[in-house]
Amino acid sequence: MAEVNVAKSCPHCGTEMTLKIAAYPMGSAFMKERFHVDIYSCPSCKLVKLFESETVEDMVVCPKCGNRHSAKECCSICALNSAFDGTFTN
Ligand SMILES: [Zn+2]
Ligand SMILES: [Zn+2]
Repeated sequence: MAEVNVAKSCPHCGTEMTLKIAAYPMGSAFMKERFHVDIYSCPSCKLVKLFESETVEDMVVCPKCGNRHSAKECCSICALNSAFDGTFTN
């Protein structure tokens, strides 16, 4: 993991932008392949920019369903499955 932390500078005022949210999953939780973005904001002029997330280090593959999701969030597919399971009795 030789990732270089490249500073993103604000295109508006040149201030170094700060990473607000890394690898934020875009789109619906029902999508299997989700697009992840890094959300940067400028502390000076409050400009917000999205960058396609290339460093998805904390992505995990669910051992149950194979869904790729952020390690910070639960597997949405399994969460849905267990929610549905709760409504049915075998
Ligand atoms: Zn700015
Ligand atoms: Zn799962």
